[in-house]
Amino acid sequence: AKRQGRNRYCYFTYSMQETAKMRQRLIVDLHQALKENQFVLYYQPIVDLGKNTISKAESLIRWHHPDHGMISPADFIPVAEETGLIVPLGDWVFNEAIGQGNRWNLLFGPDFQISINKSPAQFTQKSEHHDWLDDLDVNGSNFVIEITEGMLIENTSTVEKRIQKYKNKKIEVAIDDFGTGYSSLSYLNKFDIDYIKIDRSFINNLSQGKQYQTLCEAMILMAHKLNIKVIAEGVETEEQKNMLIAMGCDYGQGYLFSPPVPADVFEQFMVQWQK
Ligand code: C2E
Ligand code: CA
Ligand code: CA
Ligand code: CA
Repeated sequence: AKRQGRNRYCYFTYSMQETAKMRQRLIVDLHQALKENQFVLYYQPIVDLGKNTISKAESLIRWHHPDHGMISPADFIPVAEETGLIVPLGDWVFNEAIGQGNRWNLLFGPDFQISINKSPAQFTQKSEHHDWLDDLDVNGSNFVIEITEGMLIENTSTVEKRIQKYKNKKIEVAIDDFGTGYSSLSYLNKFDIDYIKIDRSFINNLSQGKQYQTLCEAMILMAHKLNIKVIAEGVETEEQKNMLIAMGCDYGQGYLFSPPVPADVFEQFMVQWQK
């Protein structure tokens, strides 16, 4: 069974979820991982393109499996969503991010923000019966919640209440993977959105031709008219960065600046950046 060494093999079968048996194994391992605290939050800088400063970090979960090494969220978040494990997992992420946020507001200043991903399964009333928002005693304006377009279309009244609750706590709201979801944009007016994050597929193709440039320009123009700020995802080259600056994009995030890194590495990165 050790086809390409143990790590490769298990990673492969997890991600493919080839058999019901492997899926069952993954669910058992996820339960164990929660009990044994095998998760780690990584952070990726979000750069203010106008000021050339790092004003935010996106938190991205990682799983340090004791036998199989690092497992990507793309491989376990979907299963966590289907099984309801996303609820305790999401609670862990929030607690961790809020603790880190408090520390980093002392280190990096009161305006520094941490953004937290939230999947649709975490967004229903039922899954939030012990509502972490109710006993949030920190400054909500130091946090951004990232949700996807799809969430704003389904379950509208639940989502509307939820977003209102965030706004009451001064938490900001970002639309993740913008441009990949729905053709209806009316939700941008309906909900009080603070940021759109242009999906990296658009940024990727910026140098491929005029069409993608036009699309990005249009998204930025529209967002700004609606008083929404724009974050470009997946910025990998200087050329992309410069094009985005020329278009008036507010923020950039991507490997050009830094991949997601552990908290201590992020702190070193901040020190280097400020030099
Ligand atoms: P996402 O929210 O769209 O996160 C951005 C993904 O793009 C991350 O993948 C990040 O590592 C990657 N990325 C960043 N810069 C670049 C770049 O320049 N080029 C390329 N090719 N990729 C880049 P990651 O960390 O593997 O996360 C995958 C997805 O898993 C996330 O997509 C998000 O939907 C989900 N996820 C991660 N952490 C959490 C979490 O704490 N809670 C929930 N609910 N979902 C999470
Ligand atoms: Ca995100
Ligand atoms: Ca995204
Ligand atoms: Ca706004």
